[in-house]
Amino acid sequence: MSNRDYYEILGLPRNASNDEIKASFRKLARQYHPDVNKEDGAEEKFKEINEAYGVLSDPDKRARYDRFGKEGLGNMGGGFHDYTADFSDIFEELFGRGFGFSTGRRSRNSPRRGRDLQQSVVLTFEEAVFGVEKEIEFQREETCSRCNGSGAEPGTTPIRCVTCQGQGEVRQVRQTFLGQMVQTSTCPTCNGRGETISSPCKTCHATGLERKTVKKKVQIPAGVDGGTQIRLAGEGGPGASGGPTGSLFLILDVQPHQFYKRRENDIILNLDINVAQAVLGAEIEVPTLDGDEKLKIPSGTQPGKVFQIRNKGVPHLRRSGRGDQLVIVNVAVPTKLTKEQRELFEKLAESLGTTVKPQEKGFLDWLNEALGGS
Ligand SMILES: [Zn+2]
Ligand SMILES: [Zn+2]
Repeated sequence: MSNRDYYEILGLPRNASNDEIKASFRKLARQYHPDVNKEDGAEEKFKEINEAYGVLSDPDKRARYDRFGKEGLGNMGGGFHDYTADFSDIFEELFGRGFGFSTGRRSRNSPRRGRDLQQSVVLTFEEAVFGVEKEIEFQREETCSRCNGSGAEPGTTPIRCVTCQGQGEVRQVRQTFLGQMVQTSTCPTCNGRGETISSPCKTCHATGLERKTVKKKVQIPAGVDGGTQIRLAGEGGPGASGGPTGSLFLILDVQPHQFYKRRENDIILNLDINVAQAVLGAEIEVPTLDGDEKLKIPSGTQPGKVFQIRNKGVPHLRRSGRGDQLVIVNVAVPTKLTKEQRELFEKLAESLGTTVKPQEKGFLDWLNEALGGS
């Protein structure tokens, strides 16, 4: 164990943050790594740096060290561990790609899940509300039907790669001051497959894959909305080396409706009524996605009033029931009048009185108040 202070070794104050400890270690480890630095004492220095980092990067050990010094660590700090191995980027910089103690990196021969695919599906407003069966067409790679994925022409068989003995990767042993290190890299002869093909399949040119256009009927449930994703497991790209097939994600795009707007599970409809209907009240027919519905407009209905028609909205996707239709009433002021209508309005004006009654508090007053004016 080193006799120097750990903070001093890493050139840090005692209140250094974890990030500062890490950064300083990285810098010094690159500088003093004995495989790079051949000066006398570099190896000792490197071991010192590792020891300091091993203690200061561990909150428990650091706390003991801060309180009791090295004695507080007992044998917790013992044993040499090259922490550069924990920083794969430093490690690769020092030794080149592919070097490492057994890091559990998966070889190219281990099972791999197939690719996930995406396909957008355009729905009308009504299709999204009520659900629909859609036929979709998309392209995906499938296992080649001619060679069954082996990549070899039928009647021939791939042979085990002689370079890698079927492992898919090649190993080189290198001596370093830390002992033997093993470099593994993808076999250049077979490109990781572990097999070589003497007569490649004529359909897939030895890739084992074939691009196919797939048609599929898909049930779109009622209540979906734009951006909803539907996952079809097992409809993506094929897995490799026995891995599972990927998924196909359908991403739904819903076209806007001419009249209806949607707010979650409610459907909003803006509806014009005329002045007489607003004043006197009326029973009107309102279009809904399920056909016309009767709606009672009470007398004295103000513009902007919202009426709720229950259960005529969008079905809930994951539970039963539906949203509502909300009817926002606008009172249409006529711009063209027949002679008779004009006479009636004139009579009305006479009856209501011609004096203009200002509202006690107008919009501008209210706005001024809200803005803190006079
Ligand atoms: Zn093939
Ligand atoms: Zn090989």
